[in-house]
Parts: sequence; structure tokens; C-alpha cells
Amino acid sequence: MTILGIDVGGSGIKGALVDLDRGVFASERIRIKTPRPAKPKAIVGVIRELVEQFNYNGPLGVGFPAVVQDGIVLSAANVHDKWIRYHGQERIAAETGCQVRMLNDADAAGTAEMHFGAGRGQRGVVLILTLGTGIGSALFVNGRLVPNTELGHLYLRKSKIDAENYASDRARTDLDLNWKKWAKRLSRYLQHVEMLFSPNLIILGGGVSKKHRDFLPLLKTDTRLVPAQLRNQAGIIGAAMAAAEEFGRPDLALLTPSPADEEE
Ligand code: BGC
Repeated sequence: MTILGIDVGGSGIKGALVDLDRGVFASERIRIKTPRPAKPKAIVGVIRELVEQFNYNGPLGVGFPAVVQDGIVLSAANVHDKWIRYHGQERIAAETGCQVRMLNDADAAGTAEMHFGAGRGQRGVVLILTLGTGIGSALFVNGRLVPNTELGHLYLRKSKIDAENYASDRARTDLDLNWKKWAKRLSRYLQHVEMLFSPNLIILGGGVSKKHRDFLPLLKTDTRLVPAQLRNQAGIIGAAMAAAEEFGRPDLALLTPSPADEEE
């Protein structure tokens, strides 16, 4: 089964057809620059353009960098305020004519990692953190997603800023932190998360995870840390999985164990 997945990001909106049996792209990836200002109508217009470029009319999955509950966007940390309370899922469906499932971008990426990547077959509490412009989080308990955890917005002790402004990849590049300095910040953040959730495994994703050799060995946590495997494909693959789960493949994704468990 092939489904179109779209990942809305701060700088680009990316889409690809996803082969859901193998968890890989079944087409080239198309990227369109995120319009500025990134208001709902402009973004929905780009999503429509992507759907048209793929000449697609099946179920559509859309990952979005904010809280998305029942298809309604409820926060706007790194997107335009006009998104708050916007019925994104309904509007995208009306514009594209597709059946749409919209969800948080990190929840989408985490779903793909749990099923096809570094979290495959992992039971217990697994936390996927995406390190990018912000910090996205996806929390899984025995393979089941607890959506919209938003752990990038925790406050660390005595700090008056969101953790993502302190420890995200953007913080690293904006402040020109070397790996050691950034790893110190990231460790402080990870230890806080560890204290709150006692995860069995933490998976670090986002673009910077491809440079994991530079910083992963410098991180100090008690929890086992591994890099994500699907990297920048995870968001698109997970969005497609979420749509498949809702519109035709209930065996997939957010509520079910990964194939490795079924084999046990
Ligand atoms: C948003 C999250 C999102 C994360 C990564 C945060 O600022 O609040 O919803 O998952 O960035 O894009």
C-alpha cells in the first residue's frame, strides 16, 4: 500500500509517497519552501500544490510542528499564531479532496522510528526526541503513542526559557556552541526528562542525529541513548502511517506493536 505523507517544517514542506509495507519512499521527495508569513491559508495552499504534483487523491497524512488534537491545531511555538484553533485537518481535506489525518510532527516521526527504525520491537517506555529548530517529543508505552507530549517546552530548574531554546539544534547553531558545550546543555535537558519519565530507551532524531558520532558519546544519562535511523524521512513516513491507520490499515502504527513483537 502506498500513501502520500507530508511533513510541514519551518523552512520546507516536504512530501513523498510511502511504501507502508517496507517503510521506505516509493517516489522522489518533493520540497517546497515554507511560505512567509506561514499563515494557515498559505501553508494549506502549498500542501494542495504538493498533492497536485503527485497527482494524488488517496488518504493523506500531514505532520505539523504543533499540538494537533482531533485535527485541530492548538499551539503555535514555531508557527504563525493564526494556526491556534485552526481546523487544519478539515481545511486540508476541503482543499485537496483527500481524506486527511493531521498529527504532531514528532509523533509522526516517532511512529515511523518505532515501527521501522531504532525503536523497532522496543517495549516499555520509549521516548523519541527530535532536535531541530525546536525539540519535538513522542512518548510510547509498549508501542502505544501518548500524543502531543510537547517536552520541548519544559523549563529546566532556575531557567526562565523553554528547554528547546536552550538545548535544540537551533540553539547550538545560533549560539555557535561547540559539541562539548551543546552536549552539556543537552545532557542537562535529558537528565530532567529522565527524572520525569524513567524511559527504557531514548531515541535522538532530527537532522543533527546524522552527526551523532560527534555528540552522542559526550552525553551523560543513565538511560540508553541511540540515534534515530530514518532521519529526515521519519516525519513523512510516520504521517503516511497515521493516515493508513485511520483510513484502511488499522494494523499499522500508533496503536499497535511493531512487526518484531508480532513475531515473538
Ligand atoms: C513544537 C512541537 C514540535 C516541535 C518540533 C516545538 O516547538 O511545540 O509541537 O513537535 O517544535 O517541530
